[in-house]
Amino acid sequence: MLQGDFERYSRQIRFAEIGERGQQRILDARVAVVGCGALGTFQAAALARAGVGFLRIIDRDYVEISNLQRQWLFEEADAEAALPKAIAARDRLGRANSGIQIEAQVADLTAANAAELLGDVDLILDGTDNFETRYLINDFSVSSGLPWIYGAAVGSYGLAMPVIPGRTACLACVYPEPPGGAQPTCETAGVLATAAALVASLQVSAALKLIVTGDVPRWLTTADVWTGEIRQIPQPARDPECRACARREFPWLETRRRAPVSMCGRNAVQIHELRRPLDLPALAARLSLLGSVRSNEFALRFETPPYLLTVFPDGRVIVKGTTDPGVARSVYARYIGG
Ligand SMILES: [Zn+2]
Repeated sequence: MLQGDFERYSRQIRFAEIGERGQQRILDARVAVVGCGALGTFQAAALARAGVGFLRIIDRDYVEISNLQRQWLFEEADAEAALPKAIAARDRLGRANSGIQIEAQVADLTAANAAELLGDVDLILDGTDNFETRYLINDFSVSSGLPWIYGAAVGSYGLAMPVIPGRTACLACVYPEPPGGAQPTCETAGVLATAAALVASLQVSAALKLIVTGDVPRWLTTADVWTGEIRQIPQPARDPECRACARREFPWLETRRRAPVSMCGRNAVQIHELRRPLDLPALAARLSLLGSVRSNEFALRFETPPYLLTVFPDGRVIVKGTTDPGVARSVYARYIGG
């Protein structure tokens, strides 16, 4: 370890369970953060400052003013510029720790790109806001023997659980199916920054423990920051009939195309099944005849009230102004093309 590293991480090294050897393992670790919102910003910041040597930040979205209440890494200027979250996070954290490698991926994690985005890391942190992506992470994790740390927060409540395939229960052992019916979301129930921070803190601590010792706390922790109630229940045993970790069926990894999805906490729909490279400058020239256009190297924004379209170079589009996938698809077809 370099002398400068020793000084930077000295308080962590003095923590006996980590020590110099543990710090070296952290410096050698490769971690992916999936989703850079309330959970992911905290995770990415804590991991970067702890010295995780390679950090990949994956997020499909751009910064908005309503994010700033809980998404620690972002500032008003990021929302004004509508910067992709992964880019804003990478740039900010690069100034906090220039000694590690931080990679930004402005992308939606899907079955088609999971191997490319997750195949070369040691560990995955869940910063997502939907069960669909969590099942995809779980399927990828179990199929390739890669640990991940599940976490979720809504309202004042949250929970966290580490998953080590073959050793602990996986997400499908605990929740064989996505929860049915209307679930509370950040949109309907709101979310407190402190609930997300508590969950993310448990996730990052489990991640560091796994990197340093090879093991994780064997608890499922639930916490409500408003009532102050924190509960730990022993992690459920592995289900011997589990679809994923026993029968090794991975339907979420085999879904090559997904329907458009409405986005948590937003009056918006993401359309991602029509993926193809788009020439943003050419599109900007065409759309500027029809409405107001702003673009930078990462994205193009086209405003045609009541809709605001954010178009990414890979063909993905977020249509703001509706939660109806059918409406979003027709707006997409009208302006971007079928
Ligand atoms: Zn399982």
